Amino acid sequence: MKIIPKEKIIYQFSPSIKPVEKIKPGEIVLFESNDCFGRQIRDEEKLCTEIDFAQINPATGPVFVEGAEKGDLLKVKILNIALDQVGICVTVPGEGALGEKATKATTRLIRFQNGFFEFRGLRIPARPMIGVIGVAPLEGDYPTGSPWKHGGNMDTTDITEGSVLYFPVHQKGGLLALGDCHGVMGDGEVCVSACEMNADVTVKIDLIKNRSIEWPIVETREHTMIIVSGDSADSALKEATDQAVTLLEKGLNIPWNEAYILASLVVDLKVSQIVDPKKTVRAAIPKTIISTGALLGL
Ligand code: CA
Ligand code: CA
Repeated sequence: MKIIPKEKIIYQFSPSIKPVEKIKPGEIVLFESNDCFGRQIRDEEKLCTEIDFAQINPATGPVFVEGAEKGDLLKVKILNIALDQVGICVTVPGEGALGEKATKATTRLIRFQNGFFEFRGLRIPARPMIGVIGVAPLEGDYPTGSPWKHGGNMDTTDITEGSVLYFPVHQKGGLLALGDCHGVMGDGEVCVSACEMNADVTVKIDLIKNRSIEWPIVETREHTMIIVSGDSADSALKEATDQAVTLLEKGLNIPWNEAYILASLVVDLKVSQIVDPKKTVRAAIPKTIISTGALLGL
């Protein structure tokens, strides 16, 4: 198994990022990931307003996948997310869904023990997930804090152990990087941060030749979800719906109007995060209606 050390990081997904490791399709890779603060916060005295924002959202990698070319898909199965012992959650004045009410910077360390987080005497079951994961984009530079068609800061709770991600390859090697793991987060990430943690993430990376998608897709046990970001939640929801209807139309080979009706009956629209400059949502298509493979034409 190849290990990508936590010092090998990027702050931008761009077409020109340089790989730190080369792998063959089918290999298992462990990424040592850093929390979204770049390990700058170690106690509750340290506020988010005092840290160096140039070191925010480091993503470990990128990894070059041999044979991956524009027009292919990277298939990334999340095998394990091994969390550190403590998580960090912060408020930042003016930030989050209730920015106008959030006037104070706060840092809270949240202890992790035996699968639970402890916060104000409450025991919260861990739901580990990856906040930032993506590939080199087609063009332009995207800070690792931004979500878009290449992936990035999607902050989607379903990007968790056992899930499979599909990314469109835009550049040779695909160039996969990840970071910003969360021990637990509610859909929305309302206060602007989750339970932010360092974590060792183990994935199996496969290559699917000559099959393209527009937005990242996450396959869970029960659903195929298209992860879409936009300038507003409204615009992202509309685009996610459009994508879902089109995939149903093509995957089931039915008229668009019928696919539109079917989407209304079975597709769940879910919020991923509403606190980054771009908002992220997902359209979840049940695998009982159509398998992920059939939906993506695999
Ligand atoms: Ca994030
Ligand atoms: Ca985060």
